[in-house]
Amino acid sequence: MTPGWQRRVGAPHVSEVSATDLRAVTAALRPTIAVNITQFSVIHALMAGLYDGVFPAPQVLEKGDFGIGCGHALNGELVFVDGEIYRCTSDGSVTRADEGELIPFAEVAEFAPTVSVALEGPLARDGLEALVSSFFPSPNLFFAIRIDGTFDRMLVREPIRQHHPFRPLVEVMQTQNESELGPTTGSMIGFWAPQIYQGVTVAGFHFHYLDDAREVGGHCLDYAISSATLTMQALSSITLRLPQTPEFLTADFAQADADLAIRRVESSAVGVASAGGQ
Ligand SMILES: [Zn+2]
Repeated sequence: MTPGWQRRVGAPHVSEVSATDLRAVTAALRPTIAVNITQFSVIHALMAGLYDGVFPAPQVLEKGDFGIGCGHALNGELVFVDGEIYRCTSDGSVTRADEGELIPFAEVAEFAPTVSVALEGPLARDGLEALVSSFFPSPNLFFAIRIDGTFDRMLVREPIRQHHPFRPLVEVMQTQNESELGPTTGSMIGFWAPQIYQGVTVAGFHFHYLDDAREVGGHCLDYAISSATLTMQALSSITLRLPQTPEFLTADFAQADADLAIRRVESSAVGVASAGGQ
């Protein structure tokens, strides 16, 4: 790995606000300038089995120090945190992505949170999502969300590396690896995307987890917060980078039940439904 290719992270300005002061949290989340999320490829491409890496890691990192994605050939879930890219693989290990990594799908942002809220548990997934949603000045913006803390429960999954010919994601994720990591201390990294972007990205909340020791992590399926700090920012601009590979250019993304399939892929444990995305 070439030293210095990782991103350097600046010090953001953050308003510390009580979770009960809804108006203050919401006010601190209003984007004053067009803060951007950059997305590389679309979820539909993964659904269709386009798992080959396309975008060089340094090119993705150039657009954001914070985010989520998946590895080449579904080799692990990626977590972009503090300007580093970590890969959580199905053998339960975490490694750094190297400079030569080609990434098939990612979404990243320059994380400069405008609000910080202390969260006291126990707070399960439903409760956390309802609380964070209540802070949004509007559900029609994107939000970058980070939750650092201790979790009583953290159920994650990692896809199993695929080989050509690739099968659709719904089939592949029947055999995803799932791990119960809790109790654990670490960071949930992710985004809220408005419903109308389902298929471009994953609508709703989408988090990946990485523990503080950088030893375990993956796509969050379920969790329970013991105690944590929530930081987030609104994103009012999106840049979409599309692959120019022959596979992408000739793919047919028409799928009657795409919305249902994506929901299942992104939130279901094995046996409940089907697959898991990036
Ligand atoms: Zn994911």
